[in-house]
Amino acid sequence: MKRNLLLTPGPTQIPPDICAALGRPIIHHRTPQFQENLKEANEGLKYFFQTKSDVLILTSSGTGAMEAAVSNLISAGDKVIAIDGGKFGERWVELCQTFGAKTHVIKVEWGKAVSASQIKEVLDKEKDIKAVFVTASETSTAVTTDIKAVADVVRKTNAVLVVDAISALGIIDMQMDAWGVDVVVSAGHKGFMLPPGVAFLAANDKAFKLINECKTPRYYFDLKVAKDAAAKTDTPYTPAIGIVIALVESLRSMKSIGREKLFAQYARLAQGTKEAAYALGLSIFTDKSCQSNVLTAINLPAGIDGEKLVKTMRDTYGISVAGGQDKIKGKIIRIGHMGCIDEFDILTCLSCFEKVLNEMGYKFNLGAGVAAAQKFFNQ
Ligand SMILES: *Cc1c(COP(=O)(O)O)cnc(C)c1O
Repeated sequence: MKRNLLLTPGPTQIPPDICAALGRPIIHHRTPQFQENLKEANEGLKYFFQTKSDVLILTSSGTGAMEAAVSNLISAGDKVIAIDGGKFGERWVELCQTFGAKTHVIKVEWGKAVSASQIKEVLDKEKDIKAVFVTASETSTAVTTDIKAVADVVRKTNAVLVVDAISALGIIDMQMDAWGVDVVVSAGHKGFMLPPGVAFLAANDKAFKLINECKTPRYYFDLKVAKDAAAKTDTPYTPAIGIVIALVESLRSMKSIGREKLFAQYARLAQGTKEAAYALGLSIFTDKSCQSNVLTAINLPAGIDGEKLVKTMRDTYGISVAGGQDKIKGKIIRIGHMGCIDEFDILTCLSCFEKVLNEMGYKFNLGAGVAAAQKFFNQ
């Protein structure tokens, strides 16, 4: 039996104790037993969202929470700003357009981050912007945006700031209340180490004012209904019961480590991966000013087919990483650091990466990447 080591940027590996929790017999959701789980899950999520607002648990992949944000905040004809610097920013744009928003798109070169001043420029010109949609960690380009700086700008206006923190939460710092972010969305299958099926959304009073005024028809993702249910420690419809119970386990173990320590661990994995890339004579795709610790995107040598490399790592050696999308298809690999990954997983991945690079004819000092990462991890 071959291993299946997942270093993909979602879904992520599921630790054994969470797998065990997922295997428990089902319980009914309208019971005090399930309510205990919902209550603890909500408390644990608040700790990672760094908010006092309720965190609503939705039954969907991450995009469901993104759609919930757009369809509950935006009425047709509303003006919004969306940042498009990668696949997930593009998703905000498509969602806003789908719901009829007049969408001012700020295009950002792939590998770079939007700056707060670019957003301020648009907000200064257009006074009636209802919402600004940003991505905390753009998983397609490994870019992180300075959400604190963006929030400083948006907070002074009537616009609501909506952040896709789906791949960011639990991995990098995201202080919803302290920074003044109005809506944060996330999901279970990235930093929280769960199978896909739950998404999370927290919205503050400023956001709920807009939600209450919003005219867009909605039903399954009606956040007012979800909020009323949450106030009674309940959900409007059948939740992903087994995954919520497993979420309690993952939040317990993550909380026992603590936010700051988790952030530091992921930063260390990201740095070790970069050291390896440099030692192999490779460069990092993402601009130095905005590299995310959620994952690392490495430029592949000219002449190496990235799609073939990713496929060989996965199908021949059992190690899953991601390739590039769209215009960088075949040109980069993306190594995830999120969830239950440690330095030995990274070293195993790097060793496999070197093996396949070598097989494909790239000339380098075999073992140099592993050695550099090993050296960094042992400092
Ligand atoms: C994974 C991810 C999503 C959500 O994707 P789903 O496939 O719907 O779960 C959204 N944004 C970012 C930045 C992501 O990494």
